[in-house]
Order: sequence, then C-alpha cells, then structure tokens
Amino acid sequence: MAEADGDEEATCWICYDGESAGQLLRSGCACHGACGLVHLRCLVSAADASAYKEEDDFWVACPTCKEMRSGPTQLGLARVRWGLVKSRPDSDYARQSACTEMAVAYIESGDFSSAQKFREELLSVDRRMHGDEHPQTVSSLTNYGKILSMRCEYGKARDVVESALRTVEESTLCQQLEAEARAEAAAEMDGRACPDGSLTAAIKMELGSIHLELADYDKAQRHFEDAVGGDAKPSTGAGRHTERVGCRR
Ligand SMILES: [Zn+2]
Ligand SMILES: [Zn+2]
Repeated sequence: MAEADGDEEATCWICYDGESAGQLLRSGCACHGACGLVHLRCLVSAADASAYKEEDDFWVACPTCKEMRSGPTQLGLARVRWGLVKSRPDSDYARQSACTEMAVAYIESGDFSSAQKFREELLSVDRRMHGDEHPQTVSSLTNYGKILSMRCEYGKARDVVESALRTVEESTLCQQLEAEARAEAAAEMDGRACPDGSLTAAIKMELGSIHLELADYDKAQRHFEDAVGGDAKPSTGAGRHTERVGCRR
C-alpha cells in the first residue's frame, strides 16, 4: 500500500482515484506530494494520448519536473512502449529507442540478465544496419561488454570490449565516422567544450574497470591513463545521460 505524504487518502495525480482502482506507484521523478503517486495505466494512457508520444523524452522523463524516471514507473513505461513498437521494422527509430530504454530500465532495476537480451538485440540490429566497423556498432558492442561485466563475466567482457577497441583503433572507416560525429557535436556546441568524451576514451575506461575486476592492475592503470591522457575527456560511469548522448543514436 502506497503512503500519502499527509493524512489524506493516497490518490493518483492523474485520475484522483485511490488504491482501489489499482496499485499506486511512486512517480519515480522529483514530483512529490499531490503529484507523487500514480497508476501505471494512467501514465500509459496519458503517454499514448499525447501528440509527443513518438518522442523519447515523453516516455523516460516526467513532463512536469523533467526529471528522468526511475524505479517501477521507469520499467513499467519502458515495457509498455516496447510492446507498442516491437513489431515495427528494425530501422524504426522509436523501436531502437524503446529497446535501449528496456536495457537501461532493466539495468537500473538490477535485472542484468533481462538487460543482456536487449543489448544483444541492439547489437545484432546495429551490425545488420551499419556493419561491424561503424561507431554505432562499436558503441553497442561496448555496451554489450558492460552488461557482461555487470553479470561478473569479466573474461568474456574483456574479450568483447578489447575487440571494440581494436575496431576503433584499426578501422579507417570507424575513425573517419567517429571524427565526423565529433566535429558535428562540437559544431552543435558552438565552440564550447563537448561534454562527452571520444568513443575510444569511453572504451578504455570500460576496459580499465574490467581489468580491475580481473585483478590485472597494470593493464587497468594503462587503460585509465590512456583514456584520460587522450585529447578528449573520458565519459565517466554508465549513466543513462552519457549513454543517450554519447553512445546511442
Ligand atoms: Zn490513476
Ligand atoms: Zn515529476
């Protein structure tokens, strides 16, 4: 039973009904008080009825406080959105975005095994659509390595992320596309520093973390030093913002 902040009966901020109309969930954002509790189906109806329903933000962030959702509403909305778009073609943007959000929501809920299935799906779509040497595929491969690491499969994770590093270091096509993407990002930032690091630096940071887990401290140190020694600032952590802006589409 969800609790209201005061003595009043807990109600959903969308339909004003209480728990009798369905389980009330915390909104999973910065809203509290009268906007703190909600039925998942009410959020879904609001999302589905919106003119913005093809836009990512509508499904992943609260329209009121703009904060990215967390907890049961995050996973609940991700599942509903996935159900709505999964039969679309692989190339559909909303489908790819919903697939990414499923992986992110499962990671945040600690269900790494379910997250892995969505990472595998994203990787196979990227391979088919872009080929092995595209930075998008390399990024997807690195994210797949990350999930293996989260599942404590460090040996496999190392092999996967090392192969991602080999591609960015050896593929001319990958380097060229990555340079174009960075130039485009820098232009969008209008000369200000780009907040995200290069793909190479992000991969080296991940490899450093994996080698730490494998107690291979020399290699870990070398990867971390390489990552921060490059001309780009490495991205830190596996946060959803970093991933959205830097590694996904
Ligand atoms: Zn409701
Ligand atoms: Zn909110």
